[in-house]
Amino acid sequence: MRVMVTGGAGFIGSTFVRYLIRERGYSVLTIDKLTYAGCLASLRDVEGHPEHQFMQIDICDHAKMAEAFRAFAPERVVHLAAESHVDRSIAGAASFIQTNIVGTFHLLESARSYWSTLDAEKQESFRFLHVSTDEVYGSLGEDGLFTESTGYDPSSPYSASKAASDHLAKAWQKTYGMPVLVSNCSNNYGPYHFPEKLIPLTILNAIAGRDLPIYGMGDNVRDWLYVEDHVRALDVIADRGTIGETYNVGGRNERRNIDVVRTICSILDDVMPGRAPYADQIRFVSDRPGHDRRYAINANKLETELGWRAEESFETGIRKTVRWYLDNEWWWRPLSNRYNSARLGLSAPAL
Ligand code: NAD
Repeated sequence: MRVMVTGGAGFIGSTFVRYLIRERGYSVLTIDKLTYAGCLASLRDVEGHPEHQFMQIDICDHAKMAEAFRAFAPERVVHLAAESHVDRSIAGAASFIQTNIVGTFHLLESARSYWSTLDAEKQESFRFLHVSTDEVYGSLGEDGLFTESTGYDPSSPYSASKAASDHLAKAWQKTYGMPVLVSNCSNNYGPYHFPEKLIPLTILNAIAGRDLPIYGMGDNVRDWLYVEDHVRALDVIADRGTIGETYNVGGRNERRNIDVVRTICSILDDVMPGRAPYADQIRFVSDRPGHDRRYAINANKLETELGWRAEESFETGIRKTVRWYLDNEWWWRPLSNRYNSARLGLSAPAL
């Protein structure tokens, strides 16, 4: 199987590329522009592997993408390339519109040009999986779960741009008959997560003795999924999902942000007692505008139709994640200059 993975030098993409090569024995072409969030070190495990190729390409570059399609001849495309940080989208949305909407349009068109040259049998077995977020559904109240039929109601420039890209992907299936599927996943966590996101930021600021910034009162709820569970789901959906369908991906691990941060602090209290109690570093900062109150996923369709289930509990996954950051400073230290959390209004300075 030959799989093109866009955004494969990012957090989820690199985990997916490693999985496809190591666990599935597939041949992978990673496409990535290498923005501030793209990191070749995340692909170190497959560097030089005979089944892995890397091309630094912006998905908006139709000519280069056309050449990549022609040269690699993928049987499957899994599209993860995106601008992904909500706070950055609030500070400036242009790159989100450009990559997430315009870039997805260009990628769909590059894929369609290539797909239209295939013979009927290959056209039928080709798959394009567009990877998206549960944030497109907006916010939940105290109860209820997002299902695949929940109406779109995005709140941030990021989620609005992802919502637009989902609609484009679905339209390319309905209009042109291209074999497209869409997945909408809850918040991921795990190794190789860029240090600007809540969980790695908390771990790294905690061990550096810095403030642990939490928006509002920390009572916003997210549904956390270990990244390795997500990439198994992507593989299953691309393999056995029904063309034109959407699949929600989630692990039934709802947690308030404050509880996530306190859990990390108590793990650190155990494993690195030097600065304990780490929870003393928690600082509440003014809330993010348009901050969705609660996300939670109903993944019944994926579980019952395709037999996928999340395997990692939050308790074990978060321990593994903390341990990974403590053991892998080689990976996160060089990224420290790539972002500036102070500029984004967070109270914690860049690492
Ligand atoms: P990430 O920011 O870690 O990685 C995104 C990657 O895309 C980076 O390597 C970046 O260099 C690359 N990229 C950006 N613009 C590009 C362009 N124009 N051309 C080519 N490459 C480009 O993001 P992530 O957290 O790994 O998320 C991957 C995908 O999964 C995104 O589409 C995101 O919306 C979706 N998603 C993420 C989560 C989550 O919790 N992280 C949850 C659900 C869905």
